[in-house]
Amino acid sequence: MDCLLSDVLAALSGEAPPTDPRMVAPPPALRAAPSPRAEGKGVLGESLTWHVDGAHFTVQWDTPGVDPARADAILAQLEAAWPVLVDEGGWPAPVSSDAWLLWVILDPDLGGSGYTTVYTTDAYPEGYPVTYLNPSYAPDEPDFTLSVAVHEFGHMLQYRLRDWQLGSVESWYWEATSEWVAERAAPTLDTYADSTWWYAQWPDARFDRIERFHPYGMLLLDAYLDERVFGLEGVRDTWLAGEGNDTTWDVLIAGVAGRDFGELVAGMAAEVAAGSLREGALYDAPVRAASHDVAPAWAVIDAPERYGSAFVDIGARGAGLIVEGDVLVGYVADGAVVDEPPDGPYTLVVTALGEDAGEDAGEVAYGVTPPDDTETPEPDPEGCACDAPVRGGATPSLGWLGGALALVATRRWSGPRGRRSGPRGRRSG
Ligand SMILES: [Zn+2]
Repeated sequence: MDCLLSDVLAALSGEAPPTDPRMVAPPPALRAAPSPRAEGKGVLGESLTWHVDGAHFTVQWDTPGVDPARADAILAQLEAAWPVLVDEGGWPAPVSSDAWLLWVILDPDLGGSGYTTVYTTDAYPEGYPVTYLNPSYAPDEPDFTLSVAVHEFGHMLQYRLRDWQLGSVESWYWEATSEWVAERAAPTLDTYADSTWWYAQWPDARFDRIERFHPYGMLLLDAYLDERVFGLEGVRDTWLAGEGNDTTWDVLIAGVAGRDFGELVAGMAAEVAAGSLREGALYDAPVRAASHDVAPAWAVIDAPERYGSAFVDIGARGAGLIVEGDVLVGYVADGAVVDEPPDGPYTLVVTALGEDAGEDAGEVAYGVTPPDDTETPEPDPEGCACDAPVRGGATPSLGWLGGALALVATRRWSGPRGRRSGPRGRRSG
């Protein structure tokens, strides 16, 4: 996946010059007067040299050598996605699609796999969407282009709802949702799952990082939200909740889910480690921050950036594992999220809650024998090593997923080791 949406949002908002002039200015054919047709919807502008038309989309190109069969396949994939997302899924149809076919322009010279932008006109001052698609980006993997086409259709839907002038900072969730939409509206195409690599390589990145293709990997958040929290309807409702405001995505998602955003990303991370999402077998395993044969006496790793996660493999249990940091903790063993560290091999999953990000995020410490200078209290009889409020209930097993996932808010630090500031208050959901 190499969608240029982040560049487009940067260009449309004036944050940066366009990396392709068509991101902000329509090509000549689209500046021409609309072309109604005797039967079916017409197009906004004049048709290119070649085109194939469906009920909702027109796939067109000017470049000789584009295989018409590829264009037919792209059109068929898009038309198949329409009822899933619009008729059954309840997403409001893209701007202009009630009267005109939606433009999809094939360009083998495009500097990426595709992008979608909007052009404003007197008739559509809010902007109507146009997709550019590179049919030659992955010549040996035809399903990839089909998946990109559905991904871009997702952006067409998104532009209708979200203020696209908010800029590139927004793009992480646009990309995450479009990659997940590519699965839900085209479930036989599994190339979307390749995008999980971008999360797996950099799971400790801030949740909203837009560098290094991280947003595509965040499709895992929508996969988790869809399968475990609020369904594809909830994903749609999150977008509807974002219409006409600039509320950030973490707040919108938490609001629709009725849960703390930190708990949601921690739940995602644990299920990714477990491989327990529906197509988890297709997803890349996150890199490990550390690995131990047995639970260490005491060890320290860099804290993830905000709402990022670190994964630590531990070969065998030591009594009373303690974790310290401004984090939520989960345990994964034998392909499942479990309530407490088991005796056998398991993966410790820590998800950072801190306001700080990057190099200032501090450390996460864990082990069975904390050094004296940390003033760590004795673990309580239930095995909870915390003196901070436990999220979601009074026991270490929160049970907010029917017991499937244990997340424990550990005692928080904000200062250097040995100078803890005491627990912070609970965050609201
Ligand atoms: Zn995209």
